[in-house]
Amino acid sequence: MYFFNGNSPVLTIVVPCFNEEAVLHETTRRLTEILDKLIYNNVVSKESTMMFVDDGSKDNTWNIIEELNRNNSFVKGVKLARNVGHQNALLAGLLIAKENADCVISIDADLQDDVNAIEKFMEKYYEGYEIVYGVREERKTDTFFKRNTAQAFYKLMAKMGVNIVYNHADYRLLSKRVLNHLSEFRESNLFLRGIIPLIGFKSINVYYVRNERFAGESKYPLKKMIKFAFDGITSFSIAPIRIITLIGFLFFFLSILTSVYAVIQKFIGNTLSGWTSIMLSIWFIGGFQLMGIGLVGEYIGKIFNEVKGRPKYIVEVSHYSNNGTQQRNHQITASLST
Ligand code: UDP
Ligand code: MG
Repeated sequence: MYFFNGNSPVLTIVVPCFNEEAVLHETTRRLTEILDKLIYNNVVSKESTMMFVDDGSKDNTWNIIEELNRNNSFVKGVKLARNVGHQNALLAGLLIAKENADCVISIDADLQDDVNAIEKFMEKYYEGYEIVYGVREERKTDTFFKRNTAQAFYKLMAKMGVNIVYNHADYRLLSKRVLNHLSEFRESNLFLRGIIPLIGFKSINVYYVRNERFAGESKYPLKKMIKFAFDGITSFSIAPIRIITLIGFLFFFLSILTSVYAVIQKFIGNTLSGWTSIMLSIWFIGGFQLMGIGLVGEYIGKIFNEVKGRPKYIVEVSHYSNNGTQQRNHQITASLST
């Protein structure tokens, strides 16, 4: 039970949809139930909504969203002009939602993420957390293949130095303040799971059990998953370039040893004519080229970091501005008991 003294926060639930005609009615029904309950208990304001972002669907998705909008006052739709992919569709929704909402929860349309966790997300928001990550407890319902490729992906990302929350997809709560800072990340290769932890602020995980897709097919076939993993790594890490540089240096060093060996062999007279010169050129030129490519790559890595123009720091509290007071007011006036 919540007892709320001030204005309760406006919540927007952002749902990216690509060819989701099979699930939209059920998703809306379940989210409506949750919103009704949260409003009844004064946890969220009556102005709270769910926003369906149609990511250029080819099926009936947009017509259904319009129909839902006519019949259900919670439902609002945004139609993108073409398919831009899950991450961009989600970002569009988040940035549009932040204009009216105090906090935003993003969730997939297919009901794989347990909608009941939304209540826990709100509890954490009241406790002062500005980012709440929904984390899957188990992945029994995913296929063996998907489970293992996903695990491998997390491990690879961690090795490359990309800080992401293990077993967390894009089911999360973000406060308005976090969304404002998110809009300062101007890069166009967007990998939200990597960017959100970079923002900072008080954050916490909420665990839930992930279900099977309610209906329809996964919009993430293997091809898209590989692209997603590749994008994730190449948008965050210059580790691949560094590996090339290191191999280049190693080969260059080896080429010196090989040269010595080849020359000695020649003087001993153990060689066919031409062998020494071929050995020397292959090793020396190969090592030198690889090292050169790596060095050029290092500079490209620097450019890559510069052009992203990410904020260098984000202020959480400052006595010089009212940055941060907005969020705090909510928490001071709210008291939570069970
Ligand atoms: N999605 C989207 N644009 C795309 C692909 C997917 O907006 O180009 C949405 C989709 O409608 C769903 C979410 O992204 O709400 C996650 O997709 P899906 O459930 O198919 O992925 P999976 O859970 O299989 O990884
Ligand atoms: Mg899914």
